[in-house]
Amino acid sequence: MKEIIGDIDILDNTQESCEVVNITKDENNVGQKKLYIESYGCQMNFSDSEIVSSILKKEGYTTTSSIEEADVTFLNTCSIREKAETTVRNRLSEINQYKKKNPELVIGVLGCMAERLKSKLLEEEKIVDLVVGPDAYRELPNMLDEVSTGQKAVNTFLSREETYDDITPVRLNSNGVTAFISIMRGCDNMCSFCVVPFTRGRERSRDPFSVVKEAQDLFDKGYREVTLLGQNVDSYKWSAEQNNKARLEKIDSADIVNFANLLEMVAKVSPELRVRFATSHPKDITDDVLYTMKKYDNLCKYIHFPAQSGNSRILERMNRTYDRDWYIGKIDRIKEILGEDCAISSDMISGFCGETEEEHKDTLSLMEYVKYDYSYMFFYSERPGTLAEKKYEDDIPMDIKKRRLTEVINLQRELSIERNKRTIGNTYKVLIEGFSKRSDKQLQGRTTCNRVAVFDAGNHKKGEYVNVRVNEVTTGTLLASVVEN
Ligand code: SAM
Ligand code: SF4
Repeated sequence: MKEIIGDIDILDNTQESCEVVNITKDENNVGQKKLYIESYGCQMNFSDSEIVSSILKKEGYTTTSSIEEADVTFLNTCSIREKAETTVRNRLSEINQYKKKNPELVIGVLGCMAERLKSKLLEEEKIVDLVVGPDAYRELPNMLDEVSTGQKAVNTFLSREETYDDITPVRLNSNGVTAFISIMRGCDNMCSFCVVPFTRGRERSRDPFSVVKEAQDLFDKGYREVTLLGQNVDSYKWSAEQNNKARLEKIDSADIVNFANLLEMVAKVSPELRVRFATSHPKDITDDVLYTMKKYDNLCKYIHFPAQSGNSRILERMNRTYDRDWYIGKIDRIKEILGEDCAISSDMISGFCGETEEEHKDTLSLMEYVKYDYSYMFFYSERPGTLAEKKYEDDIPMDIKKRRLTEVINLQRELSIERNKRTIGNTYKVLIEGFSKRSDKQLQGRTTCNRVAVFDAGNHKKGEYVNVRVNEVTTGTLLASVVEN
């Protein structure tokens, strides 16, 4: 979900974004064993690496940003597209040189690729000592003990309960202003293209009181924005008796906390704490969620609402459980309740099995109808074991997939600039996240709609809210000036 939330510039959010890597920061406490983690793919993985760091910190490890200094190196991996897995395999070959220099170096593969390939990964990648799936991180200390006796260790057990709710994540790569809070794990949907249900298991929601506690704790430490994370946050459902979604649906309890309730609970931590969420399957968003967003100013007016395709036949093949008209109805509802200014983004897949030229054009026309603020755009990559791999032929040639993807990207660029132009001359409250990428004389922050604004720093600093007026726009940025009160 780096693709989903992290970077506003749509040019960075195409097929290549799986190469985005997060690395542990330098703590380097003298005398402690050093842990180095590279995290690939989605924000959920980055968030999981913070949990892993927390678990190993309790075992006396300190984090490092240098693989050369590490005693333990983990790659937290992504399987969503073939390219993501190729990237990790190439990286493992590069890491071989460090293992040759330091044969004691422990190398572990974590996350979705570990879950998908299990012990096969140990056979295929000889330098790997340890393979651990996303629900087994509590076992890491025992697994490291096993590895220290010269054995290899594998644990890819998928849990129906694990939410790591009692673990306070060690914040890695943090700007001290914005943080992610994982609120659920797994996915019970079966989109035919997607490997996630196989690599992340059944859906389960985290205790809402532990979510609120984490948000309060972050606020007390100076953070001013949290993003509630999950594959499917709108289907969040929890009760004290049961946190497994499938079982929860069968019981009748007055104490069920749904996503709208959770949003409200987190919004109430402080009006000065902004709240975002990602990502959602469109079928699960309710009017209650939209009205709750409307009620609280600090619930950011931005909804990631992944369509995947604008054609009903393709949506059926994708097993998305909605069609074009239903999706358009939901978009209209969002605009009716939250207004035309609420930002909406999407994920789009070009060249899914059997997609005709006309069906591809339906995706373009849907984009024009909605006028997405941003999109995360991919060409279809067949994944082993998915429903689509079993049922349909991956029959769109790569050059056509790429041409269609380019058309989708070009259109999104036009729409983004069109949407950004609507902001010229208006004033927005922005949360300052730090210096702009280009100059330390300028700051950057985000509007409630997740647009990045860049403006002269003056005496302002990170973590403050400031009002800015927009002067000019690019595809991904608002060029603005501070409006002093
Ligand atoms: N849960 C979210 C939803 O249902 O919309 C999506 C989460 S998924 C991890 C992120 C995005 O990756 C998807 O929305 C989809 O666009 C893309 N994706 C997933 N599988 C893919 C595949 N096999 N080929 C290309 N893109 C894929
Ligand atoms: Fe994958 Fe669909 Fe679940 Fe999203 S909702 S994670 S696309 S199976």
